[in-house]
Amino acid sequence: MKAQPPASHFVDGQPMEDAAGAAFEVIFPATGEVIARLHDATPAVIDRALASAHRAQAEWAMLRPVDRARILRRAADLIRERGEELAQLETLDTGKPIQETRVADWPSGADAIEYFAGLAPTVTGQTIPLGQDFVYTLREPLGVCVGIGAWNYPSQIACWKAAPALALGNAMVFKPSEVTPLGALKLAEILIEAGLPPGLFNVVQGRGPVGAALVSDPRVAKVSLTGSVPTGQKVYAAAAAGVRNVTMELGGKSPLIVFDDASVDDAVGAAMLGNFYSAGQVCSNGTRVFVQKAIKAEFLKRLKARSEAIRLGDPRDAATQMGPLVSQTQLEKVLGYVETAKAEGATLVTGGSRAAQGGGFFVQPTVFADVTDDMTIAREEVFGPVMAVLDFDTEEEVIARANDTEFGLAAGVFTADLARGHRVIGRLQAGTCWINAYNLTPVESPFGGAKMSGVGRENGHAAVEYYTQIKSVYVGLGPVDAPY
Ligand code: NDP
Repeated sequence: MKAQPPASHFVDGQPMEDAAGAAFEVIFPATGEVIARLHDATPAVIDRALASAHRAQAEWAMLRPVDRARILRRAADLIRERGEELAQLETLDTGKPIQETRVADWPSGADAIEYFAGLAPTVTGQTIPLGQDFVYTLREPLGVCVGIGAWNYPSQIACWKAAPALALGNAMVFKPSEVTPLGALKLAEILIEAGLPPGLFNVVQGRGPVGAALVSDPRVAKVSLTGSVPTGQKVYAAAAAGVRNVTMELGGKSPLIVFDDASVDDAVGAAMLGNFYSAGQVCSNGTRVFVQKAIKAEFLKRLKARSEAIRLGDPRDAATQMGPLVSQTQLEKVLGYVETAKAEGATLVTGGSRAAQGGGFFVQPTVFADVTDDMTIAREEVFGPVMAVLDFDTEEEVIARANDTEFGLAAGVFTADLARGHRVIGRLQAGTCWINAYNLTPVESPFGGAKMSGVGRENGHAAVEYYTQIKSVYVGLGPVDAPY
């Protein structure tokens, strides 16, 4: 089984290799097999990518937005036409079940490309009357944007960043996580096939130092990172040195609050989606599930039964509902959190071990109950299929406890009382919220975090703010009134 791309990088419209960069292997997480061998970008590759982006962006920005949009729409169509092939590649790269990658990863990337292609031609400035004189504003592109991705939704992340950047007249140099480097290379190929001029979307591979070199280059106007809080702090600081724009999509420890009037089946289903989809490797997961005491027993009973029925297995099999974690490193990290939860006194409801599945990085769907606010699994991001259930008595209490975290990415409330749903959501410190739903992230809706979970928003009209800058132009129509 191989998924070797033509070259490690994609620069100035074509695949590019430089074997002088340190080699790394791409692993299929379900078996541990090596499926590709790539190289980190050398300084020469990074320079070529930035130089071509810089050159290409100047011409791209001069095009009519509808002309840019037409190319992007074609790219979205190509992604949909090749949906099956792309889903299979995503499954090899990430280990996620094909039943997920067929409907979630590339499809949501195609949605973003189509959405921003439609939106960009509608982006206009203002005219501001000043009596005789007036000011008009233009929304101009920023220039060369750097995108840096995490490994959990590699192709979706590449599309979510490239789509607004390109539609609004910028160029992008994208660095995937070295754990999942393959999808972004496909995106680069597809964009060229759709007619995107060379240089506007480049992919360079590598670990943190490659990202760090990109972020500090003077040709770069903006950095958009999806990653953990510690990486976000480093990247934000490096971007600040050059006073660059940023979007930071970072981690979370989001509360999902279930009141005792909620539909228990819906709440259980949402809690499972918000903890077990993509084997729990989703930043916005509702990993602190607060359940009101009156329904705790019933909630846990149904949750246990449904969790134990999840089909773990080969992610290439359409019947598989949960695949492995992305890497050995992530497996060890998640199992470490499971052991800590046991040691700290949480009650193991189900799971709690590595799952024996042919050499892959599988963990059983795991539920802990009686979790308290000070336990490590209630405070730190696990990024695996490990749900922490906490119980509560009152609305006031649960709001205070839900907000008692440095993170603020997402939050959810389940209740039959919609007034309470809105009231509680209004007081939760989180950027992306749901009432009687969880983890749905349509491209039309702005996505991002409060507090340590991030800066800026992806998707929706809100993203326009983060890929453009305003130019104000004062137009004088009368004589200049100088006192000299
Ligand atoms: P990391 O923070 O480890 O890495 C993110 C990316 O940043 C990787 O491409 C990484 O490269 C790169 N990087 C690391 N150090 C630097 C540096 N100093 N300068 C520039 N780039 C650097 O995250 P993971 O890949 O482990 O992804 C998991 C994390 O991502 C979780 O915390 C999760 O919550 C968060 N996430 C947030 C989302 C959101 O939208 N809010 C969505 C998805 C995930 P490399 O890995 O090659 O070292």
